[in-house]
Amino acid sequence: MLEIEQLSVSYGRIQAVRNISLKVESGEVVTLIGSNGAGKTTTVHAITGVIPAQGSIRYEGKELCGLSAHQIVREGIVLVPEGRRVFPRLNVEENLYMGAYASKMGSAERDQEMERVFQLFPRLAERKTQLAGTMSGGEQQMLAIGRALMAKPKLLILDEPSMGLAPIVVKDIFDTIRQIKQEGLTMLLIEQNAMMALSVADRGYGLEHGEIVFSDHVENLRDQDVVKKAYLGK
Ligand code: ATP
Repeated sequence: MLEIEQLSVSYGRIQAVRNISLKVESGEVVTLIGSNGAGKTTTVHAITGVIPAQGSIRYEGKELCGLSAHQIVREGIVLVPEGRRVFPRLNVEENLYMGAYASKMGSAERDQEMERVFQLFPRLAERKTQLAGTMSGGEQQMLAIGRALMAKPKLLILDEPSMGLAPIVVKDIFDTIRQIKQEGLTMLLIEQNAMMALSVADRGYGLEHGEIVFSDHVENLRDQDVVKKAYLGK
């Protein structure tokens, strides 16, 4: 579905991502794990057209490099950004509506999607009129994921959904990601929390200093010394 080849991104003289290649097949959950500053967000911004990149990003056979962020969303690639970025002065329902804004969905379809999001996140259903800025970090993350789902993505990219959240809340978020996976949605999951990422993904890539240092099925990765030492604290 998504095939990245020899992708490089530079900020002036700093090369943040160097010749990385990565694939996501339809129906798969693929994780890209790496520590702070490894180049994860840069990779995500290249895929979603936020920053220019060199190399090739093909999605369902079409080259994305050179397309605008807006055109890429239209292709069905939707991002849940790092740090959530919900609209703080809008309430839950309004934030969700914003997710469907760019699509050509009719109001009946939009309401149906919203019902689906409320089923997935009962906590949001209880708080329809609460301002997003007054919600907890975990609730805001749920809202950010819900808002992305409102756009009916074909490929959902989650940039560090666990960031800044308590372990119990992280578990809740990952339970939902697992549920979304069971419904068949293809996902690229960017994480620093390798333990959680490897528990939900099918395959994983490791990114260090802008380069891919390992890639394999998660069952194999969990047993690799480099992964255990660097990411799993073993
Ligand atoms: P984090 O988990 O901290 O977000 P990351 O893996 O997502 O880390 P990136 O944000 O992609 O890492 O950053 C990769 C490298 O590029 C870092 O060295 C960072 O300082 C640098 N970088 C990121 N954005 C810019 C920018 N706008 N201008 C200059 N350098 C940048």
